[in-house]
Amino acid sequence: MSEVFDKLHEECGVVAIYGHKEAANLAYLSLHALQHRGQESAGIVSADGKQTHVQKGMGHVADVFTPAVLGELHGNLAIGHTRYSTAGDSGPLNAQPFAVTCNKGQIAVAHNGNITNAAELRADLEAAGSIFQASSDTEVILHLIALSRERTLSGALREALLQLEGAFSLVFLAEDRIIVARDPHGFRPLSLGQMELSGGHVCSVFASETCAFDLIGATYLNEVEPGEMIIVGPEGMTRERYTPARNRAQCVFEHVYFSRPDSIVFGRSVQESREKMGRLLAREHPVEADIVVPVPDSGVAAALGYADEAGIPFRQALIRNHYVGRTFIEPSQTIRDFGVKLKLNPVRNLLEGKRVVLVDDSIVRGTTSRKIIRMVRAAGAREVHMRISCPPVIAPCFYGVDTPDKSELIGANHDVEEIRRFVEADTLAYLSIENLREAVQDNGNRRYCYACYTGEYPTDVTPMEALIAARRRG
Ligand code: AMP
Repeated sequence: MSEVFDKLHEECGVVAIYGHKEAANLAYLSLHALQHRGQESAGIVSADGKQTHVQKGMGHVADVFTPAVLGELHGNLAIGHTRYSTAGDSGPLNAQPFAVTCNKGQIAVAHNGNITNAAELRADLEAAGSIFQASSDTEVILHLIALSRERTLSGALREALLQLEGAFSLVFLAEDRIIVARDPHGFRPLSLGQMELSGGHVCSVFASETCAFDLIGATYLNEVEPGEMIIVGPEGMTRERYTPARNRAQCVFEHVYFSRPDSIVFGRSVQESREKMGRLLAREHPVEADIVVPVPDSGVAAALGYADEAGIPFRQALIRNHYVGRTFIEPSQTIRDFGVKLKLNPVRNLLEGKRVVLVDDSIVRGTTSRKIIRMVRAAGAREVHMRISCPPVIAPCFYGVDTPDKSELIGANHDVEEIRRFVEADTLAYLSIENLREAVQDNGNRRYCYACYTGEYPTDVTPMEALIAARRRG
């Protein structure tokens, strides 16, 4: 089983457009807005009522889609995907959307999340004769659809979705319709928007984050609900629950780190959540200091909240180079902390002689924080007080966020004082889980998953843990 899926975590962005003559162009623009959710590969599948057209490749959206490539994507409907993965299975075969021709016609799917029972489903399917091309969990869904005895795609899809466990926000495309669905816990986001076109026509759009709607001029309407399936086709739009919603477990890390602050995610502004995290962090862990400095970009919104609440000036004393991709040059050992220096550079005259509150969203392995703190001190800071806008990450995510194995999570193996010593901060403090809950407005329908901070998983993850243990044994 250990060889079946190289990859347990996929951070991705998905988009779907129905009813626009420039559907592929709109999907392409939306993928630009979702680029932060994945930079490994990008793809779009369009449909013109009769046929689907597929274009995908490795790299950033701007690299994959030249005007000539986009010109091949005909039709009024399209889905798109941008994907991040760690090393191991980063091959073109795993680039999404997956497109196939089967007994339900030509279909394509793009997935954000992680199906936790995919290995078992795949083993069953392979035993029954299915042939897999990729090592991604998403391919399982297409096989389940193809094997279903239901005659319609939506019927087959409903049947397939009921067999899946874990996290999935899915967008499907058929020759003449778009179908989207969210898992019953609602781990990963998916929003619905629309564009008013001339002649009273309406174009429906779906995206992982609403920043994609802003770019293409669409209006955000609401969330695709957990356990909901939406079909948009020639007969209009239908919304149905394919399964009752279960205990809601929306990924809190979307608000802490992953989503863009200009997005509305799970019906709540990410910027508002982050600023509140910063304010509550200032109240919970105040410190005497001269300036508040964010680690860009992830710490900016929380640092603004912290600075405002504490009445300490906010200074952008670390400048990020946004244009660095991956580098193939390994520097000689004399160039220390090369990786971080490529991305960040300190502003010496802001830091010299200053007591600094350094704000970031999270510490995962601790190595980045240590390099940044060393950099800030080398630029003349007198004291460095690290403040983190969420609790220590103590457990891996099985629902689509790329966290390393428990053995590599510094928070899983060390207490806060040990972490402070490791990252070489004068003081270190994290936001409590109670304050995190308050910051993201955990109430009513807006309930979150905190498994990475508590180790309490909202679904049965024993198959995933077994998979990891098997892999570790070799
Ligand atoms: P480290 O503690 O060295 O592992 O790195 C912490 C940094 O990684 C913080 O600045 C976070 O913003 C960032 N980070 C946290 N989670 C992730 C993730 N899933 N993918 C990429 N970067 C992340």
